[in-house]
Amino acid sequence: MFLNLNEVAIEGRVKLERQLRKMWSGLKVWTTELLHIDDIPHHYREHCIVRGYRKPKSSATDCVLSVFQLTNETLNFWTHFLPFWYFIWRLVAVSYDFDFWVDPYTWPLLVFMLSCCAYPITSSMAHCFNCMSDRAQHISYFMDYGALSLYSLGSGIAYHAYVFPDSFIGSWFDDVFLRVATFLAVGCTLLSCMSRFEDRPRIRKALRLLSFSLPYFFNSVPLCYRVFLCHGEGCSHNEAVIIYYWMLFFSFLTPFLYATHIPEVLAPGKFDLIGHSHQLFHVTGIIATNFQISGVLTDLQMRREFLDVVRPQPMEFWDNIGLMSLVLMKNLLIILFFTLSLYVEKPTWLKVRGHGIKGKVD
Ligand SMILES: [Zn+2]
Repeated sequence: MFLNLNEVAIEGRVKLERQLRKMWSGLKVWTTELLHIDDIPHHYREHCIVRGYRKPKSSATDCVLSVFQLTNETLNFWTHFLPFWYFIWRLVAVSYDFDFWVDPYTWPLLVFMLSCCAYPITSSMAHCFNCMSDRAQHISYFMDYGALSLYSLGSGIAYHAYVFPDSFIGSWFDDVFLRVATFLAVGCTLLSCMSRFEDRPRIRKALRLLSFSLPYFFNSVPLCYRVFLCHGEGCSHNEAVIIYYWMLFFSFLTPFLYATHIPEVLAPGKFDLIGHSHQLFHVTGIIATNFQISGVLTDLQMRREFLDVVRPQPMEFWDNIGLMSLVLMKNLLIILFFTLSLYVEKPTWLKVRGHGIKGKVD
């Protein structure tokens, strides 16, 4: 009796293994061949990533299927694609608590949260489709930079509406804040798109880092003043402050990982598929954004009474939804301009060294 049961179990396991092997060989039809760094063009190479590259000039179907296979882009995709759905869920949850249709006080929150959803989905699409062609790679990253610029403006709008320290409200800085944030957001798109035409890696990296950190630093001035420098009364030291500490910690880690390429720079080839700096950079960025949303929501609720007194006029449409729509249009025009320039052999309006299509995945 026991022998029979044992035989049945063994037979069952063998059948299962055979079935799984069959399924695996079926799945292998859908996998894409992974390449070594020496087998791909220079502008597709990632610093200190040796293996796991997808074929340049893959089809759209190959790109989509490749996110289910472990390549050096797979986790870059998922670390932004899943957070996109999480942020959408947070936005839906928030929409039950606030009436975006009738309450102008919540409009800055709405545009901020939309910008938090826009950048992860644009980035995940860029990481998915960047190996379709040289042009596709550039266009996907132009869109990615455009979405990051909108996020920087969304943060500025939310800080201006809910986070400003008491003493800044009504000051000259208050007056110029949104105008400068807008200028920097558009400048961020322009500079980062231009950086793709620069073939000196250090300058390209520096341009890109500058274009994203400058708006971030400027927008963070009021928040950092309130959190680090403001003491005593009039500083709104509420529960949001501790959340901002965490946000700033992860915000510091994000460009640090991007700029240093840690950990793959310490052991090239060991973090090709899992754990390289770009994946960590995505994760720390998303954690920072999540803390940022929580901090802004806390301030919005806890400071409403105070803000209603010091800013009695309802929020202006052109200071939030209108402004964001305007910058969206400007970004799209910039992206269109750079996209068209990809079809010009050697754009003379830029100091392009070499061929018109240069740059690198980032
Ligand atoms: Zn990325």
